[in-house]
Amino acid sequence: MVTRLYSHPIYLEHLTPPGHPERPDRLRVIERVLDDEGFSGLDRVLAPDGDPATILYAHPQSFLDKVRAAIPETGMTKIDGDTAVSPKSWQAALTAIGAANAAVDDVFEARADNVFVASRPPGHHAEKTTAMGFCLFNNAAIAARHAQKTHGAQRVAIVDWDVHHGNGTQDIFWDDASVLYCSTHQMPLYPGTGAPGETGVGNIVNAPLSPGTGSDVFRDAFRSRVLPAVDAFAPDLIIISAGFDAHHRDPLAEINLVEDDFDWATGQLMESADRHAKGRLVSLLEGGYDLQGLAFSVAAHVGRLMKG
Ligand SMILES: [Zn+2]
Repeated sequence: MVTRLYSHPIYLEHLTPPGHPERPDRLRVIERVLDDEGFSGLDRVLAPDGDPATILYAHPQSFLDKVRAAIPETGMTKIDGDTAVSPKSWQAALTAIGAANAAVDDVFEARADNVFVASRPPGHHAEKTTAMGFCLFNNAAIAARHAQKTHGAQRVAIVDWDVHHGNGTQDIFWDDASVLYCSTHQMPLYPGTGAPGETGVGNIVNAPLSPGTGSDVFRDAFRSRVLPAVDAFAPDLIIISAGFDAHHRDPLAEINLVEDDFDWATGQLMESADRHAKGRLVSLLEGGYDLQGLAFSVAAHVGRLMKG
């Protein structure tokens, strides 16, 4: 098994206000935990620059221009109540897209069996024309369309286990039957979308979880809702929107998962990818705001990717 890891120092330069949960330290603790010799087999690659034209796979030019225009020369600007940008945010966002697209290239061109992208800003709340929830552009959506446009993928499945619903990904693919979007998330919780009745053109599967949900109920939802949908869809590629804020230590939600749940869910999706997609699996970091919970969960997730 070759598991590739993309990261880049520019991701530390996307700054958010003091006390903001989506902060550069998140990537520092991930870097530290993956420094352990158990991860010495990772194929570590510096994330490449992204092509701004690929942003248009998921967002209109007017939105791209609006985000670029909001980037300040100094200090920080708020795009919405909880989404801030700083001078290097454009380059960070572009490099997050670059890594996501490169990860897709890697699994289609057999440079890696699977890939984890440790980037920020995250992406799954970014709708076609709205940056929100710490997200500027929808990395997973852009990567899915990149797989279709560049590698001829017919069907891409995006599985999102971040504790928040990926309203942005749902919005972008709402009427696109070539992309399956499956999400487990706490409800009620930000952003408020993700009810089971939101099904798009039959390509959206929402499995909301009540506050206080633990491992068993999460795994049941994954087993009964997410995995059958992925299997029935038979994707050419699986993209994971890998947020780790459903961990019991996370301060932003009340789901009580442990590291082993992320190991298990990763293994299940790897088996699906083996059945349908020649093993092609790309995982993109979304949320996760308790530094210890995040680091240990990423270690479990990446450890599983490496083990096969
Ligand atoms: Zn989240």
